[in-house]
Amino acid sequence: KKTLLSLLAMGSLFSAQAQIKNTNQAKIEALLSKMTLEEKVGQMAQITLDVIGTGKSRFESDEPFTLDKAAMDKALIQYHVGSVLNTSNNRARTPQVWYKIISEIQDVAIKKGKNKIPVIYGVDEVHGATYTAGATMFPQQIGQAATFNRSLVKNGASITAYETRASSIPWNFAPILDLGADPRFPRQWESFGEDPYVVTELGKAAVKGYEGEDNNVANPYKVATSLKHFLGYQTPTTGKDRTPSFISDQALREYHLPQFKAAVEAGAHTVMINSGIINGIPVHSNYNIVTKLLKEELGFKGLVVTDWGDIENLFKRDHIAKDDKEAIMLAINAGIDMSMIAYNYEVFCDNLVALVKEGKVKQERIDDAVRRILLVKFVTGLFEKPTTNPKDYPKFASKEFQTAAYNTAAESITLLKNTNNILPLKKGIKLLVTGPNANSMRTLNGAWTYSWQGEKVEEFAKDYNTILEALQHKNGANNIKYLPGVSYKMDGKYFEDFADKIDETIAAAKDADAVVLCLGENTYTESPGNLSDLYLSDLQTELAKKIAATGKPVILVLNEGRPRIISKFEKNMSAVVQTYLPGNYGADALVDILFGDVNPSGKLPYTYPQFPNALFTYYHKPSEARETVEGVYNYDSDYNPQYVFGQGLSYTTFKYSNLKLSSNTLKAGESLSISVEVSNTGNRAGKESVLLFTSDLVASVITPDVKRLRGFEKIDLKAGESKTVTFTLKPEDIAVVNVEGKKVTEAGEFRIQIGDQKINFNYTN
Ligand code: BGC
Repeated sequence: KKTLLSLLAMGSLFSAQAQIKNTNQAKIEALLSKMTLEEKVGQMAQITLDVIGTGKSRFESDEPFTLDKAAMDKALIQYHVGSVLNTSNNRARTPQVWYKIISEIQDVAIKKGKNKIPVIYGVDEVHGATYTAGATMFPQQIGQAATFNRSLVKNGASITAYETRASSIPWNFAPILDLGADPRFPRQWESFGEDPYVVTELGKAAVKGYEGEDNNVANPYKVATSLKHFLGYQTPTTGKDRTPSFISDQALREYHLPQFKAAVEAGAHTVMINSGIINGIPVHSNYNIVTKLLKEELGFKGLVVTDWGDIENLFKRDHIAKDDKEAIMLAINAGIDMSMIAYNYEVFCDNLVALVKEGKVKQERIDDAVRRILLVKFVTGLFEKPTTNPKDYPKFASKEFQTAAYNTAAESITLLKNTNNILPLKKGIKLLVTGPNANSMRTLNGAWTYSWQGEKVEEFAKDYNTILEALQHKNGANNIKYLPGVSYKMDGKYFEDFADKIDETIAAAKDADAVVLCLGENTYTESPGNLSDLYLSDLQTELAKKIAATGKPVILVLNEGRPRIISKFEKNMSAVVQTYLPGNYGADALVDILFGDVNPSGKLPYTYPQFPNALFTYYHKPSEARETVEGVYNYDSDYNPQYVFGQGLSYTTFKYSNLKLSSNTLKAGESLSISVEVSNTGNRAGKESVLLFTSDLVASVITPDVKRLRGFEKIDLKAGESKTVTFTLKPEDIAVVNVEGKKVTEAGEFRIQIGDQKINFNYTN
């Protein structure tokens, strides 16, 4: 039964989207009534920029790009294609060049097109404006998650929106709301990590940053978001991209749906579908997921776009359709509104027109799709302002924006180990700097940086510091000796490496006071990102072991998209610092931390595994953790991570005390106020992310897990200062999804844990 309160809440959930729709309804209907079937179908097609340009394929050529008039006429006028994505020749362009390209495209669509409908341009700007030369690059989402700081994430998204619009692009394929709980998956770094609550909270912050507090994306500094990849991406059984996943309805709703629901409620305008296969059905052909769950249950009113070539995949990859035509029928009938076709738009358009004429796709389904597409074109203000002029973006790459990127990097970098307080280092220390990640802007940024896989980073990020350069600036070039020891191959599988004077490097360690060993991965996304071995490469392991054997203290700097296993040598490292993929200012922030000018405050947003066959999340089931379960027999499933979720040291110390509840019973319809005192007991200022976990001691499904994160707040504390942090917990915050797939809060005993403080309470309904 719906209570009055929940009806009111639902009303306000969709009101942002509803209002937008109302003001545009009449315009949309007027336009729709003038459009032929072919014109409508064309709106549903999205092509890549190469298709209408003279460049060869985006992988083949570096030649300057120019638009091809005949190709534009064919795609935009003859076929009425409504959307274009990404870049061509796989390279970034300045806002001025983008302005010229998009103005030319809009001119053709608006001046020559019968209905004067502007094209909507979309791109992947997932940690800064990927395809814009000079754009400000933030840490990738996995690093943003480590900040546990909503306002940094929101501000970063807002800056990215500004710099994306500076290039006349109003639509961003971000944020990524996948659960990054499997380090074997090649895109874990694109996620906000393994915890559904962190993904939900930071996902909402990102939507508000990109779209604005009021979701007014006609604002020329804001962009429409695309929540991706709906839903359950990053979960294949093999860990390899776009291979089959098996997710129960219960798990789908417990771990993968809440973040999308919250972001839809936060007003996101578009959603991109998961390219994978769940329980034997490609998501792109799954009516239950695309229409029933997303459009009906979540009430999503915006536009649903496919991932790259995924309708073709139903036929060519998955063999669930006998040809392109059947694949198009399945996807459109499942609820897809726009096809990210990339290249063969004629096949899509001709077949879809035929399917409607044959009655296999209903005219109403086409009208629904086109209404949603036109809605996004109206709300982004494209009809009034099809382009935005870079002149109006004076803050592009400004000091203010760069400082924000630095601050996010500084709060993300995570100190995992610091034996005998070897860190912070003293200035003037003699250092050997080594490892394949020591002198690379590419590895600091990761993929989706000035190019798809990060191939063009070195060219576009020359002016920023690598770790080596930042160390030289801070500590004096004379005090630093650099030898890579191991380097990356730059073709094929980028993350493969080769020995680069290992013996000479080991010999050089003898003359140093300490070694800064920079290991990790080179950039990749999707393919080539699949791994057959989660251990850090053999050569990097060898380098680490040999360096440690010299007896010099080793500061291990990890610069990696996902946790690669380091247990073969971790015990010999004096300090371990995780940088994730921290962006253009990552090295400056890291070196400020190494020398103590910045106090580290990042916390791990995932569980760092110790062994490849022991991949856990912190919310593992009791049976996965021998130390917490008695059971009938003591079988050896150990929860044995290298570092736990939330691990992160500081140069000061924090003490938790006085955990208090407003009541020891929580009743339906009420809420619990929880307070805890946090004190800085060390002698320097620091920031602390306060994490609130709950455990459901007995429940109908084994989802109570060991514990679940239900709240976090990041605070600043001066030396000696104490603050009281307060959280509010409602019954729905401690609900579980039961065996029927319903979210319920079950009566019984719960435990709250914040820091080392624990307290129990009862829930009664
Ligand atoms: C990726 C998406 C991306 C799209 C467009 C796909 O291969 O999976 O995340 O938005 O390409 O570049």
